[in-house]
Amino acid sequence: MELIRLENVKKIYKTGEVITKAVDGIDFTVNKGEFALIIGASGAGKTTVLNILGGMDTATSGAVFVDGKDISKWNKKQLTGYRRDDIGFVFQFYNLVPNLTATENVELALQISKDPLDAEEVLKDVGLGHRLNNFPAQLSGGEQQRVSIARALAMNPEILFFDEPTSALDPELTGEILKVIRNLAAEHMTMVIVTHEMNFAKNVADKIIFMDNGYIVEQGTPDEVFGSQNTRMKEFLGKLSNES
Ligand code: ADP
Repeated sequence: MELIRLENVKKIYKTGEVITKAVDGIDFTVNKGEFALIIGASGAGKTTVLNILGGMDTATSGAVFVDGKDISKWNKKQLTGYRRDDIGFVFQFYNLVPNLTATENVELALQISKDPLDAEEVLKDVGLGHRLNNFPAQLSGGEQQRVSIARALAMNPEILFFDEPTSALDPELTGEILKVIRNLAAEHMTMVIVTHEMNFAKNVADKIIFMDNGYIVEQGTPDEVFGSQNTRMKEFLGKLSNES
């Protein structure tokens, strides 16, 4: 079943005289239970797409269907309800409240949730059963990010979005987060993630969307996208393998 459908979505920023086509007419779909990854160089438009999907930004034109409803036509109030009730969002930085424990940080978010899960149970699910009463400063970066994933999950969302959830973390801690996301994928949580973790992308994603300059250059299964003969795709993957 199709849960997300973008149709000819554009986002154009005007700053004074400067016009930036951050997203220049893109189409893709994500099915329920699917795990989709958006990859591409910096400035390609990935975060803009995720912010539009997350109801934090609005498209300049085009349609953004989520569960059959075109959220691009919604007003602020409707988008507030959507962000609160329908989706979860995990950012690069965890934004935990420093003087609340892990459990309290999750519970705080649940105060605005219609149908929340149990904070402690969700923290246990992300491997933090032994850290429930710790403050953020007593947790590693990976643990703090797991609290923020628990915070999003406990709202019982239909879709989870992640914007570079591991890019502030050491490689060692990155593994912890990828494991949590891999487990969620195995449970068929519908997820869309922007990431630079290419091995992860290859092994776990159902669908990969490669963006360049506001366009989708390639999309498909990991095999299709990583095997693509497209010049931009090959350049992007070549650069990554030179970096590592
Ligand atoms: P990515 O996530 O792939 O790095 P972004 O979606 O952040 O790319 O940005 C795409 C393009 O849109 C970039 O050229 C960026 O500078 C521009 N952009 C993003 N947000 C804004 C904004 N609020 N105002 C003007 N330009 C923006």
